[in-house]
Amino acid sequence: METRILSVEKDGLEAVCAACREVFLAGGLAAFPTETVYGLGADGLHGENSAKIYAAKGRPSDNPLILHIGERAQLKPLVTEIPESAEKLMDAFWPGPLTIIFKKSAIVPETTSGGLPTIAVRMPSHPAANAILKTCGIPIAAPSANLSGRPSTTRASHVIEDLTGRVDLIIDGGDVPIGVESTIIDLTQEIPVMLRPGYITLEQLREVLGEVVEDPAIRRESIIGHTNEVLHPKAPGMKYRHYAPKAPLTIFSGSEEKVREKILSLLDENTGVLTVDEHKDAYPEEHRVSVGSLKEPESIAHNLFDALRRFDEMQVTAILSEDLTDADIGDAIMNRLLKAAGGSFVTLE
Ligand code: AMP
Ligand code: MG
Repeated sequence: METRILSVEKDGLEAVCAACREVFLAGGLAAFPTETVYGLGADGLHGENSAKIYAAKGRPSDNPLILHIGERAQLKPLVTEIPESAEKLMDAFWPGPLTIIFKKSAIVPETTSGGLPTIAVRMPSHPAANAILKTCGIPIAAPSANLSGRPSTTRASHVIEDLTGRVDLIIDGGDVPIGVESTIIDLTQEIPVMLRPGYITLEQLREVLGEVVEDPAIRRESIIGHTNEVLHPKAPGMKYRHYAPKAPLTIFSGSEEKVREKILSLLDENTGVLTVDEHKDAYPEEHRVSVGSLKEPESIAHNLFDALRRFDEMQVTAILSEDLTDADIGDAIMNRLLKAAGGSFVTLE
């Protein structure tokens, strides 16, 4: 398949929107930027069209897709009810990086919902994504625009690397602002459950809704040491090893000094080190990738997937990582890093 590439900056938003509309209405695939990561979109209301996403990504068919909409009025036909809690969350966080799970209506095909009776919906705030979705007027199923298992894509160059020849169109909208996927909350249970940590934190959700619980399977302790399916996460996608660079990654936790000592003792010419600006001088330049500053966790979120992809370019055979922050957006960051490590985590006493 030939893949056309258009740029928001060079070709203009109008041309980009028109090209996406044409592709989606013809049942094709187009990747476009959102504020979280790049998305790989298709018409979400025709199963034969959204099915092409699974094939292009190599995604397991039991891993449901998120439907993206440009306006709140598009939500109603997709779901059987809109609970009051959803109205509150949409008022607070839409458009933005929050995905909400509803009971799905009959018009949503099971291919899109991965066979589930529920459907995930999000309204992105990225100006290009929003304009594309409004122009198309149909809900667009769009998981992250990466090959299944690989780090999500936060730059057009990542998408081009993973999906050229597999999709009809790639929209270059520059680097995405946030860099980790949306927070997912399930409102189909009696008590709202956070299924995936993201830029919007558990505390922010609780400020709006009161009681919100966390799917126990996504907690740090549940991922550490387990490679797969031990706790059965409620978001099917959370059970797979994810975000993974080609080389195995191990995270080291403990005092700054112990971690540095351990990593330096394991370092050889084929090893990469994932570190932060504050610690990077301890490691040789050709081996290290700094993911940002501990003082600005948002910079770490922004750079994380690009940093993981850099190790592939460096062709290292092992990656040694420092433990990153563990608060607020740090939860989302550590969740991704632990998944990339397949749970390989060493505590140094
Ligand atoms: P991605 O768009 O690649 O970030 O993946 C979407 C994530 O949302 C995956 O982890 C899915 O398992 C999860 N998801 C989508 N729809 C549902 C649903 N109806 N119930 C639970 N999780 C869902
Ligand atoms: Mg994904």
